[in-house]
Amino acid sequence: MNNLESKKLIFATSNAYKIKEVKALLGDQFDVGGLKDIGCEEDIPETQPTIEGNALQKARYVVEHYGVNCFSEDTGLEIESLNMEPGVYSARYAGPQRDSDDNMNLVLEKLKTQTNRNARFKTVIALIIDGKEYTFEGIVNGVIAYEKTGTDGFGYDPIFLPEGRTTSFAEMSSEEKNEISHRGRAVRKLINWLIS
Ligand code: IMP
Repeated sequence: MNNLESKKLIFATSNAYKIKEVKALLGDQFDVGGLKDIGCEEDIPETQPTIEGNALQKARYVVEHYGVNCFSEDTGLEIESLNMEPGVYSARYAGPQRDSDDNMNLVLEKLKTQTNRNARFKTVIALIIDGKEYTFEGIVNGVIAYEKTGTDGFGYDPIFLPEGRTTSFAEMSSEEKNEISHRGRAVRKLINWLIS
């Protein structure tokens, strides 16, 4: 482990699903804590116009306020026929209530008569170690389904069919999703960097 002296890293998120997915990927190679573990309970600002900008903003906030090495991630769903919306607005696409069902219903409604259903999830991980910043990107292409299927996962998982698959992310175990997902790809790049 060359690029990280101690195994301890804070993942700057309070999303329990994301922590579960990322911990499954990192295994016990690293000791990853969430924001709760450093006593951070405030909403970290995400006000940048890009996914990369938001990821960096969150990681910088944690370094400035808590002085720990950390990584953060930001993800957006980009839909071709909606000019790559919802993108950075993915969490609050249907309004400030940040409700996944409302968000999916809005997407399904907007695509009701649309035959181009191409979409992708894009994740950017921002890592700050000893004041130095690094970013890692992961993308998965797919299509938006015509209806929701599956109950696992979170966010837009029930309406996203990854390329070459006939089941949605919400019908997959977290291991199966991690193998091909945007976050899985970005986290594997992060791990490779950490252990190189
Ligand atoms: P965040 O700002 O990175 O937390 O993510 C923005 C929104 O994208 C979340 O609220 C979810 O609705 C959605 N999202 C992020 N990651 C995933 C995923 O892996 N599957 C489905 N939706 C996701």
